[in-house]
Amino acid sequence: RKIAVLRERASGEARVSATPETVKKLIALGAALHVESGAGLSASIPDEAYREAGADVGEAAAVVAGADIVLGVQGPDVALLFGVAPGAWVVAGLDPFGQRARVDAYAQAGLEALAMEFMPRITRAQSMDILSSQSNLAGYKAVILAADTYGRAFPMMMTAAGTISAAKCFVMGVGVAGLQAIATARRLGAQVSATDVRSATKEQILSLGAKPIFVENVAGIEGEGAGGYATEMSEEYQKAQGELVSSHIAKQDIVITTALIPGRPAPRLITDAQIASMKPGSVIFDLAAPQGGNVEGTVADEVVEKHGVKIIGLSNTPAHLPADASALFARNLFNFLSAFWDTEAGGPVLDAEIGDAIRLTQGGKIVHERLLG
Ligand code: NAD
Repeated sequence: RKIAVLRERASGEARVSATPETVKKLIALGAALHVESGAGLSASIPDEAYREAGADVGEAAAVVAGADIVLGVQGPDVALLFGVAPGAWVVAGLDPFGQRARVDAYAQAGLEALAMEFMPRITRAQSMDILSSQSNLAGYKAVILAADTYGRAFPMMMTAAGTISAAKCFVMGVGVAGLQAIATARRLGAQVSATDVRSATKEQILSLGAKPIFVENVAGIEGEGAGGYATEMSEEYQKAQGELVSSHIAKQDIVITTALIPGRPAPRLITDAQIASMKPGSVIFDLAAPQGGNVEGTVADEVVEKHGVKIIGLSNTPAHLPADASALFARNLFNFLSAFWDTEAGGPVLDAEIGDAIRLTQGGKIVHERLLG
């Protein structure tokens, strides 16, 4: 099988979908690897490293010519895929709702588009989950960037000139990114508290040495839905949460928001009035910025200052750690391909549980239920 690795073309994308390590492992499975020249540069991987790993490095047209599988971090434009094998796979984070026209184009071109972000949350797919691997790094980077923007230190410091008190850091949304944000803020010496709509996170917050801040005694407080994801909460809950957050947030120096609801815009967690209640110099990092933001006034890729509070959000936080984000993303793709590699078929053959969950297009048609009707 010929596997193509293209240079990412989306603006701000610094990651790459294969590394020399995964190239070597894919070749060991029996694949031929073709990497576009310059594909790894922004992740600090020179062409030479891919060559040493056994890949052919060349221009895009040669890389995709006759390819059976095209790997990407984001979905490549269909125009780039001219000349691939009939029914070739496109394996990437395809942003199916945001990039619907591109998915339609994959269908028209007869490609089989596999959206890695639709990977089901089942134990055997954990190592293939790009959302987890990238969110984990994003949670780390959010705290690092917030700390860098903050005009004070995170840890308590006792010096001859006097004592500096520890920063108070509040993490809203304790999924993969939030857990890493808590751990990172703790390592930097902040006093950390956190909240979520899923009560199962309470214990996780405690186990990381942070303080849980939770709405109690309100109907429908269990916010866990299908696949361990959050559901939208009742009005009563949202009101109670708003009040609790208002009193807590006014005392915080750093707030990291990470709340997402699959297939919906990000829930609004922080209003302008709440920002106004915070101390000047405080910093909010809104990790939900690409999904519309948890914070009123977030503008992706800008530092917005409101009431003396700086609000940061990036459209692609993992791309700000391109080397590690690529290493983990590439391993997710390798784990996926190798789990289904069939030596007799000479390539991957999907089963129904995972195939049906991630396959968007096949045989010239859109086939995914979430994109139909
Ligand atoms: P996510 O990125 O969808 O959301 C981030 C967090 O925001 C979640 O914890 C969610 O509950 C929370 N949230 C949503 N609305 C909120 C609100 N109004 N206020 C406060 N918080 C709100 O979540 P995620 O990081 O993908 O993780 C969700 C769960 O799935 C976790 O329990 C995680 O461990 C689990 N998970 C399982 C697998 C697997 O088994 N393969 C893989 C990844 C994650």
